[in-house]
Amino acid sequence: MIRLCGIRKRFGENLVLRGVDLDVPEGHVTALIGPSGSGKSTLLRTANLLELPEAGSIEIGDHRVVFEDGIKPQPSAILNIRRQTGMVFQNFQLFPHRSVVANVMEGLVTVWKWPTDKAKRHALELLEKVGMSDKGDAWPATLSGGQQQRVAIARAIAASPTLLLCDEPTSALDPELAAEVVEVLSSLAAEGTTMLMATHDLRLAARVADQVAFLEGGQIVEQGPPERMFSHPSDPRTIRFVRTLS
Ligand code: ATP
Ligand code: MG
Repeated sequence: MIRLCGIRKRFGENLVLRGVDLDVPEGHVTALIGPSGSGKSTLLRTANLLELPEAGSIEIGDHRVVFEDGIKPQPSAILNIRRQTGMVFQNFQLFPHRSVVANVMEGLVTVWKWPTDKAKRHALELLEKVGMSDKGDAWPATLSGGQQQRVAIARAIAASPTLLLCDEPTSALDPELAAEVVEVLSSLAAEGTTMLMATHDLRLAARVADQVAFLEGGQIVEQGPPERMFSHPSDPRTIRFVRTLS
């Protein structure tokens, strides 16, 4: 179980997350939707402790950290949470001066201390899984956006994270290329990958997620299966927001 409890996060005067509670059961996928600036990226970055919350607890697999006024968790506890997660970004963020296969191997070798040959074998298997096995030696800049994102997904899942975080994984892509990425994420979901993804992409949410959570005003306003959330949400704020999606 992935459990975010009472997450509060402010930037200066701006209290962005006002006590967010969100569970993602193991093997399930939750799509986070909400207006621009509502804090979706901040919540994802807090879930893997790229941003530290002021209050709240984060539980991922067997690891749990608690933030309270004046009490900071041990750096090792923070590291343990980070290492349970993989992250996919809107703009891919591949290392430009490394080949595709080297990108996928990077964390296995530097963080997990795998021997290079073992890491490379695993990276090639992952590239096969995302339909990129013929591009291992290519440079990221020579790939289409959809191909880069599939490599970024292979990199994010390389160490078999307990939780895969995706921040608008299709929003920098044309529809055709976005469709390739939706297929890859959908097959990961079918294999039981636990995911939390921020997205404005209705097709992605409907295809991959089994829960949709609507974030507004720093809190989860409403949550439910995609069919219900998109066709007949109940909270007036969700109704208003869903009308803006196409
Ligand atoms: P979008 O749909 O546009 O991606 P979002 O829901 O992901 O939006 P966030 O990027 O999480 O929203 O931003 C939430 C709020 O936090 C915004 O008001 C933003 O300006 C602020 N914010 C985010 N990151 C920082 C930061 N590093 N420093 C200061 N303010 C920040
Ligand atoms: Mg965002």
